[in-house]
Amino acid sequence: MSSHNLSREALIGSATLGVIFIVGYYVGKRKSKFFRMSSGKSHVGKKDDPVMQYLLNHSLREHPALKKLRQKTLEHKLSLIMVSCEQAQFMANLARLIKVQKAIEIGVYTGYNAMSIALTLPEDGKLIACDINEEYINIGRPFWALGGVEHKIDVRLKPALQTLDELLAAGQAETFDFVFIDADKVNYDNYYEKSLQLVRKGGIIAIDNVLWSGRVVNPEEGDVDTIAIDKLNKKLHRDIRVNLSMLTVGDGLTLAFKI
Ligand code: SAM
Ligand code: CA
Repeated sequence: MSSHNLSREALIGSATLGVIFIVGYYVGKRKSKFFRMSSGKSHVGKKDDPVMQYLLNHSLREHPALKKLRQKTLEHKLSLIMVSCEQAQFMANLARLIKVQKAIEIGVYTGYNAMSIALTLPEDGKLIACDINEEYINIGRPFWALGGVEHKIDVRLKPALQTLDELLAAGQAETFDFVFIDADKVNYDNYYEKSLQLVRKGGIIAIDNVLWSGRVVNPEEGDVDTIAIDKLNKKLHRDIRVNLSMLTVGDGLTLAFKI
């Protein structure tokens, strides 16, 4: 084989590799874009999925006022951020299982999940609802009243970290049964640490969006939300203060059971 032939083959070889690489790169990009756009939520991405429809048709038991709140929220421009009905129902069942009396929700939006948890609480039960946006809360409030649980939802309109610090300062450490973390992602670790102080042994901290539409698999530089979630996921994996499950429900849900 002449040196001329060799270099020609090498040239064809590297050209072929180049084409494979470029095609692979674009297919990969399209796939990852699709993955990011899709979501495990019933009202996002999977809206027309027959399997999801089957799941809902055979398991959803939604209080009529809660259903009305979901329908109202779906009219809102940010409805994608609402917790899905199947995830909310799962967490409500968890709350029933451990007989939650005191709960905290960090990031409430229109309060679909807050109301769903409040429906499981005893008459004197309380859910501390932390949010900074009164407009969202005002969308939900009439529906909480309709469902007869408005008195159980104690709204604190200020940065959630401040509310958690106030609860700790008021001597409420180790008195909560359940916390749902679902606000700004960069503060997730701070929310987790404060929640761990506020929750009793055997209580549950549920952390939403832990898969962040798949972005956690390969966080991009400068993507502070993904990096914060990934960092907490890695920390939780090693955290001996809790038992742990990471579920693929919705956009990924971690359950940390305080030991
Ligand atoms: N858990 C809600 C549900 O059941 O549909 C969805 C919550 S939504 C994903 C996030 C919420 O966090 C928004 O309503 C936003 O106003 C709130 N939020 C953002 N930053 C916050 C902060 N620093 N403190 C409290 N709430 C915050
Ligand atoms: Ca969420």
